[in-house]
Amino acid sequence: MVTHHADAARAWSAAAAVVDPEVPVLSIDDLGVLREVTVTDDGVEVVITPTYSGCPAMDAIREDVVRALAAAGFGDVRVRLELSPAWTTDWISAKGRTALKEFGIAPPSATGPVSLRLSVKCPHCGSLDTREVAHFGSTSCKALFVCRGCGEPFDHFKAI
Ligand SMILES: [Zn+2]
Repeated sequence: MVTHHADAARAWSAAAAVVDPEVPVLSIDDLGVLREVTVTDDGVEVVITPTYSGCPAMDAIREDVVRALAAAGFGDVRVRLELSPAWTTDWISAKGRTALKEFGIAPPSATGPVSLRLSVKCPHCGSLDTREVAHFGSTSCKALFVCRGCGEPFDHFKAI
């Protein structure tokens, strides 16, 4: 099997430019969803790890990746979902965290179901005195929170 390094870099750039449809300020690269892009004689294989198992955005991301690679001249694109190891918020890049904050979404600060029950920080004033008002916010991947400090509502990413 022959790999093509120049093509691989170009394919990665094309795939990495795909944004999360839920959060258009964030690319799937910054989100840590894009894991691997391999170019071989047979085509391109892209490996992505979903942020949230029930997230409908994954289908959109999968289609966008194929489209982006096709636009960059790559045919025969296969997108594989890799569920293990599971995505964690640690995979969000520093740039991604900044973008999330500017977008008004609290980046998940801790991983795991236990720590998730701990405080969610308000992206507006930084207060930890917040509460969940709706388990499904603007999309099924986010929950709606409201801050008791400043009274502002905000979206919070649900981690698994
Ligand atoms: Zn606040």
